[in-house]
Amino acid sequence: MEMHIALVPGDGIGPDIVREAVRVLDRVAEVYGHSITYKEIDAGGVSIDKHNVPLTEEALAAAAASDAVLLGAVGGPKWDHVPGNLRPEKALLGLRSGLGLFCNLRPAVIYPELASASPLKPSVISDGVDLLVVRELTGGIYFGEKGRSDDGNAAYDIMRYSVDEISRIARKAFEAARLRRKHVTLVDKANVLETSRLWRETVSRVAEEYPDVTLDYMYVDNASMQLVRDPKHFDVLLTENMFGDILSDEASMITGSIGMLASASLRDDSFGMYEPIHGSAPDIAGQDIANPIATVLSAAMMLRYSFSLEKEARAIEDAVSSVLADGIRTKDIAGDSSAAVGTHECGSEILRRIK
Ligand code: NAD
Repeated sequence: MEMHIALVPGDGIGPDIVREAVRVLDRVAEVYGHSITYKEIDAGGVSIDKHNVPLTEEALAAAAASDAVLLGAVGGPKWDHVPGNLRPEKALLGLRSGLGLFCNLRPAVIYPELASASPLKPSVISDGVDLLVVRELTGGIYFGEKGRSDDGNAAYDIMRYSVDEISRIARKAFEAARLRRKHVTLVDKANVLETSRLWRETVSRVAEEYPDVTLDYMYVDNASMQLVRDPKHFDVLLTENMFGDILSDEASMITGSIGMLASASLRDDSFGMYEPIHGSAPDIAGQDIANPIATVLSAAMMLRYSFSLEKEARAIEDAVSSVLADGIRTKDIAGDSSAAVGTHECGSEILRRIK
């Protein structure tokens, strides 16, 4: 297969970790007989320095012309003083909305070898945790009409969803579940919210197209408790924008290792943008100590969701598991061990295991 990938290294540790993900992708291409071309794009602080804006029209167009985007991270203290509408983070919003990405996938995995990093008790996570939050990204209360009353003593934010918006993300959740344990939990507040009742009706209708996938429902207040009480209950957790914003952060926290968590933002076709959930970690940039695994796993998600290369995606994930099982750790997950490996060595250990 031929893949055209836009690379957005960004700021801070972004270039360090994207470099390792590219080496891993190149190794996969070599082993499995694919061809990858890359186009590097400026976004974030680096774009502010060169072009005075966090994202140029040309950069957005180049991203849109690719098959998929791999992003490191943007931002840092150097740009903290720039005005709000020119901040590096605006590049992310510009890419997400400019590329029409409505579906956010955030896996949260607790590897047995890193279980001690989790804030949860060992008994709660003894069987491991492997869940995927599927969050609607472009609708709901964050994008609804908002305002203040004339006297300024009241304010409102309107939550609105259409059947089409719900159906398209429900399909993404069911498709993702088919590649996993085939279990979708719709998280909502259907006892109170009319939008949630529309979500239930619509998602249960879409579920008929996926008879091999189990669908169940959970109120969001209960889901926030179950995530820390019994996280292994969840396989795919499907939810609207604001609930997903909150629950995906909660799900990340229970893993305890921010350098390991990948994410994907998708639209209806196969196009997607893939990035670690952590930031640009300016405190450790350019020192060869950042953990590249979140970005490497984001590249694996890219192979799975944008190119339908499941075997290749698994090869990367298995290589990461094997690196961890062999006790190879970057500093952030090494505990008190002084034998941490650097960013580049961690990348080398991963790609050495892709056969
Ligand atoms: P951060 O995620 O960059 O860092 C938080 C802590 O985690 C730091 O101690 C950092 O060293 C550590 N860390 C993060 N990623 C790591 C990795 N891969 N390996 C090892 N350690 C890692 O969050 P922050 O400090 O709040 O933000 C720093 C900058 O990043 C800010 O400018 C912020 O706006 C930006 N940011 C960008 C994104 C993004 O690009 N998606 C997301 C969050 C924050």
